[in-house]
Amino acid sequence: MQIIDLSHVLTNGMPVFPQDPPFILEEIINFENDLYSLSILKTGLHAGTHIDAPYHFHSSGRKINQIKLKDLMGTAKIIDVEKEVKAEDLQSIENIEILVIRTSWSNKWGKKEYFEDNPYLSRKAAEIITESQIKGVGIDGPSVDPPGEITIHKKLLTNGLWVVENLNNLDQIKSTNVEIYFIPLPLEGEASPVRAFAKIVKK
Ligand SMILES: [Zn+2]
Repeated sequence: MQIIDLSHVLTNGMPVFPQDPPFILEEIINFENDLYSLSILKTGLHAGTHIDAPYHFHSSGRKINQIKLKDLMGTAKIIDVEKEVKAEDLQSIENIEILVIRTSWSNKWGKKEYFEDNPYLSRKAAEIITESQIKGVGIDGPSVDPPGEITIHKKLLTNGLWVVENLNNLDQIKSTNVEIYFIPLPLEGEASPVRAFAKIVKK
């Protein structure tokens, strides 16, 4: 069994979505002034590889702690897309629990272009996904929407799906037979950083 970590490291100075608060991890007790280390964290919940719960765009939608863990893991299909996920990219998605969109956009992580002109889903693709049994969608870019838009978020989240953004290392997945795990903190909020990983199941 092989495990591939699909998360970006959460660290001070890391890029965050435009207008989001910064990620601040402060070691308030350290080995220079004491015998142990103790830190506090102040961050927007959409920092790094993270999940948006339905509540992010839907006032009666589930918050992170209300999403069952079993709904955050499962058989995944990875589709390779350059810029826009179109209806024809979503063939044979029966029996798929999680859809992962691989665009290689994560190569731009840390550069300004990462948040500009990013890959996204078309409206038709979002509609097909909401009509399928897919529980959630992950992407290796900053959003499922083009910059400045929220239509796709609204469509997916108001239909009870979750979205994982800023995935990393998808290029390391060579197998098509893969299980995906997106594990958030049990936060009573609209989002959470996740430890995302793939388990390669060899036959
Ligand atoms: Zn988000």
